[in-house]
This record gives sequence, structure tokens and C-alpha cells, in this order.
Amino acid sequence: MLRVAVVGSGPSGCYVAQSLVEQECEAYVDVLDRLPCPYGLVRYGVAPDHEKIKSLQNSLRAVLEHDRVRFLGGVEVGARGVPAARLRELYHAVVYCVGAAADRHLGIPGEDLPGSWSATEFVSWYSAHPDSAGPSAPPGRAGAPAGNGFVRNARSAVVIGAGNVAVDVTRMLARGTAELSRTDMPQAALTALAASRVTDIHMVGRRGPSQARFTTKELRELGTLPDTGVAVDPAELALDPACTDPSGLPGTQRRNVEVLRGWAGSPAPGGARRIRLRFFLRPVALLPEAGRVGAVRFERTAPDGRGGVTGTGRHEEIEAQLVLRSVGYRGVPLEGLPFDAASGTVPHLAGRVLRAGVVAPGEYVAGWIKRGPTGVIGSNRPCAKETVASLLADAPALVPGREVPGDPLPLLRAEGVEPVEWAGWRAIERAEAELGASLGRGVVKLPDWESLLAAARTGTPGRV
Ligand code: NAP
Repeated sequence: MLRVAVVGSGPSGCYVAQSLVEQECEAYVDVLDRLPCPYGLVRYGVAPDHEKIKSLQNSLRAVLEHDRVRFLGGVEVGARGVPAARLRELYHAVVYCVGAAADRHLGIPGEDLPGSWSATEFVSWYSAHPDSAGPSAPPGRAGAPAGNGFVRNARSAVVIGAGNVAVDVTRMLARGTAELSRTDMPQAALTALAASRVTDIHMVGRRGPSQARFTTKELRELGTLPDTGVAVDPAELALDPACTDPSGLPGTQRRNVEVLRGWAGSPAPGGARRIRLRFFLRPVALLPEAGRVGAVRFERTAPDGRGGVTGTGRHEEIEAQLVLRSVGYRGVPLEGLPFDAASGTVPHLAGRVLRAGVVAPGEYVAGWIKRGPTGVIGSNRPCAKETVASLLADAPALVPGREVPGDPLPLLRAEGVEPVEWAGWRAIERAEAELGASLGRGVVKLPDWESLLAAARTGTPGRV
């Protein structure tokens, strides 16, 4: 028997578990998650209106329901929970799939003004992440504003960054209530966005259109939103030499440029809301107005001929009562694991954790904590496969040489850990369906720790 703990139940953790049980019939896998709910960024990162991507939960569910896989939610690993060293004693191998939980910073004046948020904070709020639940969040957890704190009194929003997260938050600001109410978005966020008076959303990239990181399907979708026009400044396309002749660009960039050229050549957009895609503008400061953010100051940039940009010394200000900084994620260190602060990842060799440059037997990584926050969900499959290949190659040395105790669950319980098991998660799902029905909607997510844990207890015999 090979007992493996996978830390993190997002796509990368589920793909690791799947690959392990498919390839090794003696493998028993516990998938641990800090949250009582599985699926990581598929539940708490994929935008609620992207139902097709969300439906990936069905295939992840099949993994977590496998006979030799067990979901243990509500189990934190690290300084505030089960120490990494203890986990290592309980299992033959531990695979960390903990993602990249923090935001990158801009490091410019005014970044922390009221009204300026990281895109992750906004995404967590409309995705019902329990750490965003404000007053009901447990002590020590940062709470985002309940109610309509993000969009209150905002007419103009600036989204800084030109990646897929920037596209997501731009789209969510522009979506109408009718479309959002069909999603599983929490009721408070739906009510707040329904009351939003944001009419202008500026999504701003510091480099050129041909260097934007978003993918074409996501970009195109902006042009399909009801009552919303999309504007691109032809002068900004003209600044990018690759836009004049995009034929030499890689496929995604070429298609992006084609879509952007189409919008730049169209008449001024109509509709109640306008999305303006801006390029070659580097943020230099957020400017206050009446104690909150009132505008963003940008420096105009120009291509440097090597894929980067240089400042021109010319500046432009864009009005914004709401600023969402969408400049990428970064990994955070987990106590007991090595960490490379420069890349925000755990040093590894084909998924094997390296401690001071030497392979640490039985410790592995996969997903964003291994390769950084890049790629789409499917990129986690080959990444997980590589890690599992390393683990299974090591298995003969890991198993006979090291006796692990029997089932780790009773031991964890004896040490005060109270996991939310699969029955608890199914009870959360039922509670979300009931909540939605009571609101005349489909499934509606529970947004706070208290209600999630209360629902989970109803699925755990003897623990109501
Ligand atoms: P990202 O793709 O890395 O994009 C980050 C953006 O922020 C880039 O435009 C970058 O510009 C810009 N940026 C970085 N530092 C900046 C600074 N100091 N000032 C101004 N701009 C700055 O990150 P992401 O959008 O967070 O997405 C993370 C990953 O999740 C990506 O792989 C993405 O494709 C994926 N994702 C996919 C979907 C989907 O498939 N629907 C949805 C959401 C996320 P430079 O290029 O100039 O550095």
C-alpha cells in the first residue's frame, strides 16, 4: 500500500490524485484542503458566468469519489494547522498543490487607497470565498466589504492588467443582473452588482495589444455583452508595429490583434456601459479624491523593440472610483517547505521538492506552486503527470524503508483535526441548492465559514 496526501483540492490536486490511482492500484490518496469545499480555483476563481469551465467540477468530483481517494476538507497544513513534518510522518508521500494564493503588488503611491482592490479580492467576493465574508470571517482572516462596498458610488472603473483575470473582472462589472442571477453567485454580490452604476470600465495594459496575455475566446466575449460597447483606440494599435502586420505573431496574439483591429475600426460604441481597452499605459500612481481613489495616473509607454516598453515621460489620468489591480498571482511560503521568494514557487526537480538543492524524499509539488501562476486549467494535467511519474519512480524506496502508521484519519482526529468529509461537502451542496430554491434561483453559494460548517455538520452523523 502507498499512502499519499495531496494538499489542495483544486484541478492540480485532483489531477495528481487521479493519475496516482489510475497508475498504481495500491495507492490510497487523501486530498486535504484548508476549505470545507473542494475544487480550489474552479470553485473560487473561475467566473460564475463561465458555466462551461465550471462544469469541470463534474470530472473533478469523479476523482474525489474514487474508491481509493478521500476528501478531507477544513484541514489546514502549515503553521496554523497540521505541520508539514507531521504530515510526512503520516503518509509515504505528500504532494503540495497549494496554488498561488497571493496577489502581485504594483508598488506605486496610492495603491492602498479605499476603492483600490486586488482583482483577487473582487473575484473572491463574487465567488463566495469564505475568507471574503467580512464580519463572519474567523479572526485573523482579512474580510472584504460585505454588501456593495466594491461598486458603491462608482461610475468609472479602471482594471490594471491585460490578462484573463482582468478580462474576467471587466466582464463581471459589465454583466447585467438578468445574466448574473442565473449563476451561483452569492446573493449579496448579486444585489450589489445589480445596484452598480458603473458605466465605464477601462482595462489597461502597460505593453502593446500584441503582448496582451488574455486569450482570444475570452477577449471576444467582451463584445457579446448585452447593452455594452467595446472601444479600442486606433492610435494605440498603430503604436504597436506587430499590429500593422500581425502575420508573424503566434496564433493567440494574432487572433487577439484581429479582434482588437475590428473594434478599433468600428464606430463609437453605444449601450449603457462601455468597455475601453487601453494599451501602452504604465500605472504610476493612484490619485486620491475625498479620501478615496479618484483617478489613476499612467505614463505613456512605447515599444522598445525587444518585447518590452520604455517610458515616454508623457502622462495621462483616467477617472476611477474603483480600481482593480489584476497584475497576476504569486505563491506564498508554507511553513516547513522550502520556498524561492523570487519566483514564488517551491524549488523542485521534475516535481520532487528540493531542500537546499537536494531532493527531499517523499515530498512533491504540482500546479502553480511548482511552475508559477501561468497556463489554463488543462495545463495542470501534464504538470501533475510529471510529478506523479517522479513519485511512482521513487515509491519502491519510499514504502518498504519507512513504516507509516495505519489510517491517518483517526490519528489526525486524536490530534484535534476535524475534517469535513465527502458527506459533509454533499450536505453543503444540498444547502446551496435549498438556498437557491428559496431565492427563486438555481444553486446559490454559501458565502461564509459559519454557514458552510453548519451545513457540513448536517451531513456528518452525530455532529449536528
Ligand atoms: P497574467 O496572465 O500573468 O496577466 C497579468 C497582467 O498584468 C499582464 O498583462 C501583465 O503585463 C500585467 N502586469 C504585471 N505587472 C504589472 C505592473 N506592475 N503594472 C502593470 N501591469 C502589470 O495573470 P492573470 O490574468 O492573473 O492570470 C493568471 C493565469 O490564470 C493565466 O495563466 C490566465 O490565463 C489564467 N486564467 C485563465 C482564465 C480562462 O481561461 N478563462 C481565466 C482567468 C485566469 P506584462 O505582460 O507586461 O507583464
